[in-house]
Amino acid sequence: MDPHSDSYIDLRSDTKTKPTPEMLEAMMTAELGDDMNGEDPTVNRLESMVCEMLGMEAAVFACSGTQSNQMGLRSHCLPGDELLIHELGHIAIFEGGAPAVLSGISCRTLTGDKGMLTVDTLQGKIRADDQHLCRTRLLCVENTTNAGGGYYYPLGQLNKICDWAHENGLKTHMDGARVFNATIAAGYSIKEVCAPLDTISICFSKGLGCPMGSILAGPKEEIAKARRSRKIFGGALRQAGIVAAACVYALENNIERLQKDHDNARFLAEQLATIEGISISPEETETNLVFFDIHPELGNAMQLSKALHEIGVGIGAMGHTRLRACTHLDISREKIAQVPAAIKEALNSGLNQYQGVATGPYARG
Ligand SMILES: *Cc1c(COP(=O)(O)O)cnc(C)c1O
Repeated sequence: MDPHSDSYIDLRSDTKTKPTPEMLEAMMTAELGDDMNGEDPTVNRLESMVCEMLGMEAAVFACSGTQSNQMGLRSHCLPGDELLIHELGHIAIFEGGAPAVLSGISCRTLTGDKGMLTVDTLQGKIRADDQHLCRTRLLCVENTTNAGGGYYYPLGQLNKICDWAHENGLKTHMDGARVFNATIAAGYSIKEVCAPLDTISICFSKGLGCPMGSILAGPKEEIAKARRSRKIFGGALRQAGIVAAACVYALENNIERLQKDHDNARFLAEQLATIEGISISPEETETNLVFFDIHPELGNAMQLSKALHEIGVGIGAMGHTRLRACTHLDISREKIAQVPAAIKEALNSGLNQYQGVATGPYARG
């Protein structure tokens, strides 16, 4: 089915949302100026709002989450430096090799449950100060984890690894593309999350429902460097307030409602658990990302994804047997309630008519 059809249930990503009439109204009435010269009042308002909310000194608006992550990395690292990151981290695997391409940074990828790191996994991973070795410079953490399973960092664990990083001379950067999903699900505050971080990148184009936009926040000095790299990366815009207005709107209206997406995700997970041929532990669904597996004797994840697409449900394949359904603001409980029947229909449709195998965690966005 065409994903643009009204009846298509698009759970492929929370990037699929369209701006609501209220958000569009905020965009149409925004005060604008030339942001490259710091003259767009709406962008300035967004940046100072974010500083206030996060308890950070400075912030800079960016086009995408990839861009704001890469601006952050470049503020902390020099060519030849290395960062520590989970092997499923978006920065390591879904940004086109940007740390190496844009800044000459290599990613040292580490393992850990749920896409998260612990002091045990980090211990011993800082290279000695030696001309032969690259300089270990930065710890990157993702909250919530995406390919790692949609989990939020427990605050204690986050504080421990960030303290460890700082004690060992590293900086800390959070890829907080979905950090408000984490604060809503965990019940901690965004200020508590930001306290142990040097920089954080947050996306407005995911659960917050904006058409585009991200922000990097951190100390004045690092954000000043990030403004320079934003220009170099081609992301310094002019009347960007037209987009920033949507972001201001989202911060004021779309954070608390993320609980609905989490409730819908858990409801979906519980329904999926009753379907023969599907494996899922519903209590593992902490936020808006629902990961589940198809029993391999019935077919693979890509085949099920294609069969579902035919009957009007978008769910991405994340591995050989793994799929990811993502709830968001354009998906009501009524739509979610139709998904289990669609999955049963797809499983009964004879999956071997569909080709293709997904081999890795490749779902984007
Ligand atoms: C979506 C996402 C990003 C940013 O992606 P863009 O498509 O560049 O906006 C970064 N990190 C994670 C974990 C994400 O899910």
